Amino acid sequence: MRLSLQEIIDLDDLQELMRFFYEAAGISVGVMDADQNWLVSIGWQSICTNFHRVNPKSCKNCLLSECRIQAYLNSKEYLTYPCPNGLIEVAIPILLDGTPLGFFFLGQFLHQPPDHDYFRRQAIAYGFDMDAYLQALEKVPVISQQRIEHLMKFFVRFFDLLTRIGSENQQRRQAEHETQQAKEHLETRIEERTLELSRALIEVGDLAAQLNESLKQVEQLALTDTLTDTYNRRKFDETIVHEHHHSEHGKTPFSLIMFDIDHFKKVNDKFGHSTGDLVLKQLCHLIRGLIRQGDLLIRWGGEEFLILLPSTLIEEAGPFAERIRLEVEREQFVDAGSITISLGVAQLREGDSTDTLLKRVDNALYRAKQEGRNRVVLQASL
Ligand code: GH3
Ligand code: MG
Ligand code: MG
Repeated sequence: MRLSLQEIIDLDDLQELMRFFYEAAGISVGVMDADQNWLVSIGWQSICTNFHRVNPKSCKNCLLSECRIQAYLNSKEYLTYPCPNGLIEVAIPILLDGTPLGFFFLGQFLHQPPDHDYFRRQAIAYGFDMDAYLQALEKVPVISQQRIEHLMKFFVRFFDLLTRIGSENQQRRQAEHETQQAKEHLETRIEERTLELSRALIEVGDLAAQLNESLKQVEQLALTDTLTDTYNRRKFDETIVHEHHHSEHGKTPFSLIMFDIDHFKKVNDKFGHSTGDLVLKQLCHLIRGLIRQGDLLIRWGGEEFLILLPSTLIEEAGPFAERIRLEVEREQFVDAGSITISLGVAQLREGDSTDTLLKRVDNALYRAKQEGRNRVVLQASL
């Protein structure tokens, strides 16, 4: 990228510096950029501003002189030359890595005292007021060639330093700008990625929740009897372990009610198997409405069921079984009308295993059947 002089040098600073120089040395100074715009122009002699630049012909000479400077810029050579109006100009290119960014010039001076005849002729040729012109001429400084050479050596080094420092600063600013842009870009990317990630996490969370829900349903299905929507033996096996543990630790023991539909075969025979199914469903629905939360209704097999009553003594379980029996007896079943059930009740005793308890409750049910059905028999001993 090609830099311009204005980009690497602060113009206000440069103008102030040049003013100081002019005040110290009394030589007019100028700085022009590569596009021939004057950036600094200080201490112009009145002989130039009030005379040479005013008359169109002599002004043409001035402009011609500027054109030569431009041509010189491209050749990048040090140049001292008399301007076509009789004064002397000196110019150096302002280079950055060999490329001219503009030029600096000292001008409007003489190396020797003026040749008054030459200037008188010039006043006549361009129609200048002779006295005023010669007065302006008197103000033109006379500076030895050697002094100008010293000054130019100084300015060559001065601008070399200025452009190098300026361009380094500019490059540093550019690098800082690019770093800042890269940082902002990175921050934006990080924000986007974080957002994407959190969205993905939410999705994963949702999926996990769905999966969990599906697993629960599968688990529930594995523990449920689909016809009657009651629990199955597997659920009983799971729960009974916990209940044993609970009772062993001094808590109120649990009780079991086992019941079986009386003469259910006849229901099937008389009304058909599907009516039998409906009876089973309605019966379970009825009993689910009677048991407490935490009680478990289990399809033990066929038309035989268990009710597990946690923290329930037989004194409470017995009357509850009787209530169930009564409610079933009162219920009108779709198509089948009335049915009855027989129930056995047992409570966990010390030293009981699940098997011994089941045998006892099964035995109680057997006795209920034996004794005429539609009744409750409490805990027969083995
Ligand atoms: P008891 O009073 O001695 O229990 O007589 P019961 O007829 O109920 O006894 P049994 O065990 O001889 O018959 C049970 C019948 O229950 C036999 C079977 O067809 C019927 N059963 C078992 N499971 C189902 C079922 O899911 N749906 C239907 N409709 N019937 C079933
Ligand atoms: Mg039966
Ligand atoms: Mg049976």
